[in-house]
Amino acid sequence: QLYNLVQDLKGTIRVYCRVRPFLPGQSNGQTTVDYIGENGNIMIVNPLKQGKDARRVFSFNKVFATNVTQEQIYVDTQPLIRSVLDGFNVCIFAYGQTGSGKTYTMSGPDLTSEETWGVNYRALRDLFQISKERAEFIKYEVGVQMIEIYNEQVRDLLFSTLTPCTLDIRNNSQLNGLNVPDASLVRVTCTRDVLDLMRIGQKNRAVGATALNERSSRSHSVLTVHVHGKELVSNSILKGCLHLVDLAGSERVDKSEAVGERLKEAQHINRSLSALGDVISALAQKSSHIPYRNSKLTQVLQDSLGGQAKTLMFVHINPEVNALGETISTLKFAERVA
Ligand code: ADP
Ligand code: MG
Repeated sequence: QLYNLVQDLKGTIRVYCRVRPFLPGQSNGQTTVDYIGENGNIMIVNPLKQGKDARRVFSFNKVFATNVTQEQIYVDTQPLIRSVLDGFNVCIFAYGQTGSGKTYTMSGPDLTSEETWGVNYRALRDLFQISKERAEFIKYEVGVQMIEIYNEQVRDLLFSTLTPCTLDIRNNSQLNGLNVPDASLVRVTCTRDVLDLMRIGQKNRAVGATALNERSSRSHSVLTVHVHGKELVSNSILKGCLHLVDLAGSERVDKSEAVGERLKEAQHINRSLSALGDVISALAQKSSHIPYRNSKLTQVLQDSLGGQAKTLMFVHINPEVNALGETISTLKFAERVA
């Protein structure tokens, strides 16, 4: 038992790379993905270059090719869900440029089709399933929060107000991951409840967006599942939480083109994504100082990054040739945290 636990605590940061397929009408026969190895290697090629500079290999815990199903993507996530019910904190991230498939991985393309459900719904479905299996021994209560972080401001996605209201973050280990205590915490008992909440959250997210500005690519959305379990024999309490994070698009914005709001957004995004990268790589290197304070995102997730918490990051790449620059910078980011 102890041996398993120790094994389990090692390598608590995992990075998986997922390659998006070409979308209908997109393929011109050229791709930047030259080769995907079995051991988590991916070789990127610049089709416009020749010689040894044209190719570069990156290594992760796993690389998923374009034909991998939503179910296959989820398989390795399942043990993490079990550990949330055992009282651990878990963060699952989707990273990548806009259009690379982050929302597809986390939510899926279509809520009405269970087969294409993303990680979010599958995770919640399993969470309820496992808690039901344990009902004889442990009584679980599950609550959900949904927030968005936009321009370093935290907004509640489950409570809609006409005047956007900014929420405070509190960091205190007593809170057990409830670091935005004023965000609505809604009790849920089944997957259907969660689906309904996600719809509300998505609607509230859209309300905040200006006409030409697709808000979802410029903000981080964080779905947090708080689990509270009471062991019926010993009366001891287990608390765990699961953060499912659809990050803002990682694309670099051309400083000469972006002005005003757009430039401000871009700067906030760059800063918070680098802060996240800094935290995860400091954790991976077992550094004594973990720079959580540098962004709202890392403050919100502080209790769930490091310590005994487990982290899984899906990095997404778009195989099109014109995305090559972003693909390389995405993979470099990911390699730094892996
Ligand atoms: P992002 O959230 O990173 O901006 P999306 O998840 O919205 O990207 O994906 C962009 C488009 O590509 C969407 O039309 C989505 O349905 C499609 N897509 C993304 N990943 C896949 C995939 N693995 N298989 C099929 N279509 C995908
Ligand atoms: Mg998206």
